[in-house]
Amino acid sequence: VLSIARYPALKMSDCEDVDEDGSDRMSYNVEDSDEIFDDDDDDECSMEVCTKDLHHSGPSNVMEPCFVKLTADDIVKEQRKLIQNVVELTRLPGHTARQLLQEMKWSFENVAVLYYDDQEKLFAKAGISVNGEAIDAVAVRGSSGDFVLDQQTITCQVCLEDFEKEEVENNMSTASGCGHVFCNACWVRHITTQVKEGQAARISCAGETFVEGKRRRCNIILDECFVEELLRGCGGSSEILKKYQARLIDSYVNNNPRIKWCPATDCTNAIRVTDSFDANSFDTSVECSDGHVWCFNCLDEPHAPAECSNVKEWRKKCQEDSATSNWLVAYTKDCPNCKVAINKDGGCNHMHCKHCDHHFCWVCLGIFEHKTYQHTCNKFTDDESKMASGRTALQRYTHYYERFNNHSKSRELESKLQEDAMFKMKKMQEDGNKTYMDVQFMKQATSQLINARRILQWTYVVGFYDPPWLQRNIFDLNQSELENATEKLSNMLETEDVIKWCAPEDRVEMINQTNQVETRVKHLLDALDTWKTNFSESDRQDMVEASNSQDHEETAEAGSSRKSGNKRPVAKSEGRGTNGRRPNK
Ligand SMILES: [Zn+2]
Ligand SMILES: [Zn+2]
Ligand SMILES: [Zn+2]
Ligand SMILES: [Zn+2]
Ligand SMILES: [Zn+2]
Ligand SMILES: [Zn+2]
Ligand SMILES: [Zn+2]
Repeated sequence: VLSIARYPALKMSDCEDVDEDGSDRMSYNVEDSDEIFDDDDDDECSMEVCTKDLHHSGPSNVMEPCFVKLTADDIVKEQRKLIQNVVELTRLPGHTARQLLQEMKWSFENVAVLYYDDQEKLFAKAGISVNGEAIDAVAVRGSSGDFVLDQQTITCQVCLEDFEKEEVENNMSTASGCGHVFCNACWVRHITTQVKEGQAARISCAGETFVEGKRRRCNIILDECFVEELLRGCGGSSEILKKYQARLIDSYVNNNPRIKWCPATDCTNAIRVTDSFDANSFDTSVECSDGHVWCFNCLDEPHAPAECSNVKEWRKKCQEDSATSNWLVAYTKDCPNCKVAINKDGGCNHMHCKHCDHHFCWVCLGIFEHKTYQHTCNKFTDDESKMASGRTALQRYTHYYERFNNHSKSRELESKLQEDAMFKMKKMQEDGNKTYMDVQFMKQATSQLINARRILQWTYVVGFYDPPWLQRNIFDLNQSELENATEKLSNMLETEDVIKWCAPEDRVEMINQTNQVETRVKHLLDALDTWKTNFSESDRQDMVEASNSQDHEETAEAGSSRKSGNKRPVAKSEGRGTNGRRPNK
């Protein structure tokens, strides 16, 4: 952490003081430039700090917060605080301080360092001072440092309309830093176009400059007061203004890798992760102030114990395959060499796999001598029947997808069941039959059920991609034990009414089964955690070598005997995504 104590101590000053010093006056009205600091910055912070509870929390201290919930207001407040810090350091107006921060990716330390190292460079970078010589700039710097207009008639260099001296004040505006003057209508059009193109933090001046003898777009960045005033008062749309302001906040979030917007539709909350957030752990899920849960890394739903990269691949694969899987089953076969699904679009049985360049026979899947066209497969052999029926890659995917999907569907139904149960429990509480503590066990049971479903769902993605550190036999066993415990809990909740479980002896049974599921979840996740952590660099090296030599073997043997689709090299090539959707012949 950089200490800024070595810099000269500056007295606190607001924008107005700075303006009176004449250090950096703007030509247009900036009386409200410090308006954004009017809010009470000493407001007690209302952000919520969260620790993982239900979810697996890894080996780190459970009590330490992994993330902080932020609302849009919290983010605006944080921005203001940083701007205020820069104002105090540089004594520049607030909107200029914002530009410096924006340029330095909202790092106060970086602004401070460059401000003292090379102020000119910082100002040019941030678009505050002009780079080169402004072309057609009609405003000139007066004695006070302001830009002033001293001509009788001024022509807007964009639309070429002339404005008389008395019309200028109401119809034209001057960009700060360069003195470019255009009519307000042209400014608004220019700004609107840039906002529509996704710009906000770096909307440049509409003018041009000479830099080393070449014409360049003027580097001045229009500051927020200038843009907002034009959009508000000079025919800009309020929709564009809103978009502009939202983007200014966005630029703060987007430049801060520790903060992300909640991906839920129309949700305006954000999350900031803390030092104790472990991006490499299995559980990277966060929850926003409105209760949306998501993975902070990849923005998908929480997906422990699957890894983000696999989740992304899996989603893509499911999307591609859902449209074509029926068709695939009916009209395609897997290339016997690379296992990619390929289809036959003509009568010729000589197939050429474009994915791996393998030539084979559609009927028997044996090697086709494409140079000599000498191929016989009219005789029945044991090998051939095995090969012809083998749709291992597709069957393998279907196996995992069905189970993944099934747990996902169960989870949906069980969320409904949880709502019903909670409604009934609440009613019992209101009727005075039960206390709050009496009904908590049902909430825990249903929450644990839903949590286990989600974890089970994603274990099938782990199984499908079969990472090298996975101890397959133990994993399969843990998975099936969790599955059984979960199904039992689900069955108990589904078949009997809430009332029954409130009886003391039945309640104990429910609590025991909930604990059973919880233990299984922990068991499964802990084992995965340990394997992954212990998978050292040397193991990884061994893996690469082993799989390389295996690949060679397989290529040599292809066609003579089909290998099991469950072997690792197959899983790998499948995992990388296939190209078998288009005609391959
Ligand atoms: Zn114009
Ligand atoms: Zn300019
Ligand atoms: Zn949200
Ligand atoms: Zn993720
Ligand atoms: Zn052919
Ligand atoms: Zn192939
Ligand atoms: Zn054949």
